[in-house]
Amino acid sequence: MAKEKKTDEHFFGFEEVSSAEAKMGRVRSVFESVAGNYDIMNDLMSGGMHRLWKRRLIRLIRPRPGMECLDVAGGTGDIAFLLHDATKDKNGNSKITVSDINPAMLEVGQQRAIDRGLMNKLQWVEGNAEQLPFADNAFDLYTIAFGLRNVSRIDKALADAYRILKPGGRFFCLEFSKPVTSLFRKAYDLYSFNVIPFLGEKVANDRESYQYLVESIRQFPDQKTLQKKM
Ligand code: SAM
Repeated sequence: MAKEKKTDEHFFGFEEVSSAEAKMGRVRSVFESVAGNYDIMNDLMSGGMHRLWKRRLIRLIRPRPGMECLDVAGGTGDIAFLLHDATKDKNGNSKITVSDINPAMLEVGQQRAIDRGLMNKLQWVEGNAEQLPFADNAFDLYTIAFGLRNVSRIDKALADAYRILKPGGRFFCLEFSKPVTSLFRKAYDLYSFNVIPFLGEKVANDRESYQYLVESIRQFPDQKTLQKKM
C-alpha cells in the first residue's frame, strides 16, 4: 500500500500529528500560553528587530487612505496599528480588520488598542485563516505576519485569501524562511535552537512553546516552494 505523503498539516513543529485539527488544537494552546508575554518575548528574541521588519512590510505595501485592509493572524495588532496610521483619513478613521483564531491573542491586541485610544477604530474578528468569516472580494489588502506557518493547511489559507481579496487586491506575507548562505544558517540554527527555548524557559516559564516556534520555522516551506503554492 502506498504511504500517505506528509504535508504541513501533519507536523506540529518536528512532531508528527494525526490531523489538521490536531495541529490546530496544539497551535491554539501555544498561543494561549504565550499571549501574556508575547510582546516582551518578541522584543527579546529578535533584539527588537521584529519592529523594523514590520515597518519595512508597511513601506513595501505603500498603503493609501481608504484602503480596506485585513490583517490575518493579527493577534496583538502590530501590523493593524501601523496600517491604521498609514491609511487613516483626516478624522482619524481607517478600514482595518484584525482577524485571529485565538481569542487570547485578540484580547491582548484589543487591550493595546484601548491604550492607544484606537479601540473603536479597528474591527476585531475571531476567525480561522483557512475559512475566514468574510465575503468574497471584500478587501484591497491581505496581510499575514508570522502567522502562515502556524496555519494547518497553508493551501486552504492561500485560497481563502484569494477569495476575500478584490480583483487587483494584494497579498503580503511576512514570515521566517530558509537562510540562503550556509554560514548564516549555522549561526541562525545555533541561536534559535539554543537561545530562544532558553529565553522561553527563563522569561515566560514555557520552554516548549518556544521550541515549537523554532521548529515551525524549519518546517515552513522555503522561499521557492511557498512561491509555487501562492
Ligand atoms: N501577526 C502578529 C505579529 O506579527 O506579531 C502575531 C503573530 S503570532 C506569531 C501567530 C498568530 O497566528 C497567533 O496570534 C495565532 O493565534 C494565529 N493563528 C494560528 N493559527 C491560525 C489560523 N489557523 N488562523 C488564524 N490565525 C491563526
